Amino acid sequence: TIILGIESSCDDTSAAVIKDGYLLSNVVASQAVHESYGGVVPELASRAHQQNIVPVVHEALKRAGVTKEELSAVAFTRGPGLMGSLLVGVSFAKGLARSLDIPMIDVNHLVGHVLAHFIKTEGEENKQPKLPFLCLLVSGGNSQIILVKSHSEMEILGQTIDDAAGEAIDKCSKVMGLGYPGGPIIDKMARQGNPEAYTFNKPHIPGFNYSFSGLKTSFLYSLKDWLKEDPDFIEKHKNDLAASLEKTVVDILMDKLRKVAKEYKINEVAVAGGVSANTGLRNAFLDHAKRYGWNVYIPKFSYTTDNAAMIAMSGYLKYLDKDFATIDLPAYSRVSL
Ligand code: ATP
Ligand code: FE
Repeated sequence: TIILGIESSCDDTSAAVIKDGYLLSNVVASQAVHESYGGVVPELASRAHQQNIVPVVHEALKRAGVTKEELSAVAFTRGPGLMGSLLVGVSFAKGLARSLDIPMIDVNHLVGHVLAHFIKTEGEENKQPKLPFLCLLVSGGNSQIILVKSHSEMEILGQTIDDAAGEAIDKCSKVMGLGYPGGPIIDKMARQGNPEAYTFNKPHIPGFNYSFSGLKTSFLYSLKDWLKEDPDFIEKHKNDLAASLEKTVVDILMDKLRKVAKEYKINEVAVAGGVSANTGLRNAFLDHAKRYGWNVYIPKFSYTTDNAAMIAMSGYLKYLDKDFATIDLPAYSRVSL
């Protein structure tokens, strides 16, 4: 079984090929046009997807050594994401599947991030989480604790009531006058800084939910005060600021995750989404494995931010269930797990 996966939900155009659960290729074209705007411009994203989609799919097939006639099905991200971006991938996938007379498979982008943990690579150990497991999904748009019962049955146990973790980091980075997206920049600077240098407000939300908007405000007001005393404050202390911000975010994430793991008595714990590329968060998972006996699953860097490998993998699992889409299926900008 050979599945082509297509991802175009935000600002990355990606195509990947999976054969019987093994990844053959994963091509990602990132869009640099948004950097100067400090965020993704939907109209520009959509246009760039249109330019990228054909060469990206070609390249993915070429690197996989597969012809389009050999494909069993085409899987695509249906949502959530930017409507103009999604439509490019959805329309292309439907058209291709139709012309080849093979099934088309819709994939939920968030489910894709989670199921990235099942992608296998030839010649590697391929350690996979055992069901049921917990997955902390942390990205630009989401912060959720998910109970994964099977590849088609997931339950959100807790989620952010306002900003996502990645969004909070990106906004704080913007306040500091750093580039976009802030996540990787903060990560790099945090490695040179002292995480105990500053403390920022942590939310007091009952249950398993998160909140990150208060942290952003706390960061902004603290910074304003410090800048009043010293206009060069950011320049002098940016590494400590980044390290302290990162630590606060990681502590908030892990505190709730520990609570859930204890309540549900599950020690299989995975992390997924763009923020799972963060060094501090990855280290916190390794630390929890040692301290609490968790079996932790940390994705390869190429599966953290948006990629089509995860969409092809999810498509492959749905293919085995014969869970196909119909041509009239619309894209969804907002949809939950
Ligand atoms: P969603 O998946 O919720 O629809 P998205 O697809 O836009 O949102 P991803 O591509 O999964 O999000 O993740 C992007 C986010 O990951 C950004 O907020 C970015 O700053 C963050 N990020 C990427 N690398 C790092 C890192 N090393 N440290 C912290 N954050 C990071
Ligand atoms: Fe994503």
